[in-house]
Amino acid sequence: MAINKTRVAVIGSGPAGLTSALYTSRGQYDTVVFVGKLLGGQISTTHEVENFPGFPDGTTGPELVEAMRAQAEKFGTKYVYDIVTEVDFSKGSPFYIKTDGGEEWLADAVIVTIGANPRELHVPGEKEYVGRGVSYCATCDGFFFRGKEIIVVGGGDSALQESLFLTKFASKVTVVHRRDELRAGVSLQERAFKDPKIDFIWDTVVEEIKSDANGVVTSATLRNVKTNEAYDKPVDGVFIFIGYDPNSDVFNGQLATDAAGYVLIDQLYRTNVEGVFAAGEIHDSVFRQAITAAGDGCAAALTTIKWLQDREDQLQPLDNVMVEAGD
Ligand SMILES: Cc1cc2nc3c(=O)[nH]c(=O)nc-3n(C[C@H](O)[C@H](O)[C@H](O)COP(=O)(O)OP(=O)(O)OC[C@H]3O[C@@H](n4cnc5c(N)ncnc54)[C@H](O)[C@@H]3O)c2cc1C
Repeated sequence: MAINKTRVAVIGSGPAGLTSALYTSRGQYDTVVFVGKLLGGQISTTHEVENFPGFPDGTTGPELVEAMRAQAEKFGTKYVYDIVTEVDFSKGSPFYIKTDGGEEWLADAVIVTIGANPRELHVPGEKEYVGRGVSYCATCDGFFFRGKEIIVVGGGDSALQESLFLTKFASKVTVVHRRDELRAGVSLQERAFKDPKIDFIWDTVVEEIKSDANGVVTSATLRNVKTNEAYDKPVDGVFIFIGYDPNSDVFNGQLATDAAGYVLIDQLYRTNVEGVFAAGEIHDSVFRQAITAAGDGCAAALTTIKWLQDREDQLQPLDNVMVEAGD
C-alpha cells in the first residue's frame, strides 16, 4: 500500500486552515488540506457575514469559503475530503496521518486548524434556524437584531458578557437559565442585574424553537424544570452560549492542551511537538472570529515556512513510500 507524502498537512478547512494553505502553497511547499466533515468550517453555516474585511456589501459563509478554497487551490493546495482519524506525532517529522477514507500520509510539517464547536441544545428547530434567528455568536449576529427581542441561553460568563453586548442592539434580552443561580462572575452578574434591558427566567430550559412559514424564528417553547409548566415565548432570536468543545480528541493526548482541550501554542504558533503548529479556534477560546482565525492561519503558516526553510537539507523527496500491507 502506498503512503502519500506532503511537505505540509493542514488538518481542518475553516478560515484558519484555508489561509494557512494559501500561504504555504504560495510559499512553494506542497500542501494538503484534510477537509473534515465541513469544508470551510463554522463560517460555511452562516448566511450573512458582514464583518470580514474586503466585502463592503457583506458576503455569505459559503461564498467566502469557496473564494478561500479556490485561492489556495490556485497556488497548488490539494484537498482530501476525509476526516483525520489518527495521527502519530511521537516519532517526530515526518508525521503520520490516517483518514476515515483509509488514506495514509506522511507530512514534514502539520498545521492543526480543526476548530471547536459551539455546544448545542439539541432541541427541535435549533439546527434548522441557524442564521434565521438561532445564533452562537453575538459579535457576528447581534447587529441583525436591532430593536428585536431575544433570549440568551446559558448562565456562565460568556452568556452574561454576550447578553450585555447584545443590549446594544436588542430591545430586550431575556436570559434563560436551567438553574436558579448563575455560574458567571459576581461583577458580571451585578452589571447584568442592573441593566434595564436584561431580564432573567430561572429554572427553565428551551424545548423547541419555532418559526414562521419563511423559516424565521418567532418563538421558543420554554419549560420550567421545577413546576414542569411549558409555554411559548414570542422571540425574534435565540442566542446559545453553553460552552464550546475543541476538536482535540483525535490527537489522543499527543498535543499539550489546557484543561478544556484547547491546544497550547507559543507566540510563534508552535505546539509542544516540534514541526506541529496550531491556529484558529483549536487554540483560541477568546476571539472566535473568521478574521482572527484567518490571521492565525497566516501566522502559523509563516512559522511553518521558516521551520521548513531551516531544515531544507533534511527534507526527503516527495515520492510515495511503498510499504507492505499491514505494516
Ligand atoms: C453560525 C455561525 C455564524 C458565524 N458568523 C460569523 C461571522 O459573521 N463573522 C465571523 O467573523 N465569525 C463568525 N463565526 C465564527 C467563525 O465561523 C469561526 O470563528 C471560524 O470559523 C473559526 O475558524 P477555524 O478555522 O479556527 O475553525 P472552524 O471554522 O471550526 O473549522 C474547523 C475545520 O476543521 C475540520 N475538522 C474538524 N475535525 C476534523 C478532523 N478530525 N479531521 C479533519 N478535519 C477536521 C472541520 O471540518 C472544519 O473544516 C460564526 C460561527 C457560527 C457557528
